Amino acid sequence: MGLEERLPSIVTASAEKLVNWARSASVWPATFGLACCAIEMMQTVAPKHDLARFGMEAFRASPRQADLMIVAGRVSQKMAPVVRQIYDQMAEPKWVLSMGACASCGGMFNNYALVQGVDQIVPVDVYVPGCPPTPEILMAGIVRLHEKIRKQPLRLGRAR
Ligand code: SF4
Repeated sequence: MGLEERLPSIVTASAEKLVNWARSASVWPATFGLACCAIEMMQTVAPKHDLARFGMEAFRASPRQADLMIVAGRVSQKMAPVVRQIYDQMAEPKWVLSMGACASCGGMFNNYALVQGVDQIVPVDVYVPGCPPTPEILMAGIVRLHEKIRKQPLRLGRAR
């Protein structure tokens, strides 16, 4: 007896839950690295850690085809307007993951040249700690993001 024979013939679910479930299983990260944390982000996509298990292995070169910005590394003042512009060009609904101490709070670089937290430029959904965060910690942050996506109200975008 197969599994399909045990399932009821009618399954109900709210549209919100179905849409959010589909969204969480198909997040498209932007190809975007700012500093040393980006090396660990690249490793996360490699076969050993296999981000494809989460439906996220295809990083998009165009922000218009991406809905997740992983801010991997420190953000210089010069890069700040570029980061914001990329965020503005990304498709809605979109999410931001701050990867590492530098992106989240400036890390060891408490000086005038670096933004002391990327949340001063773009809204951040998940903060991933570490210097650098290992691929395992980044994936834990991604799982946290998926949980957040599955719980968010269904709407076209967020006003920020
Ligand atoms: S958190 Fe550490 S690894 Fe990441 S960008 Fe800063 S110094 Fe580099």
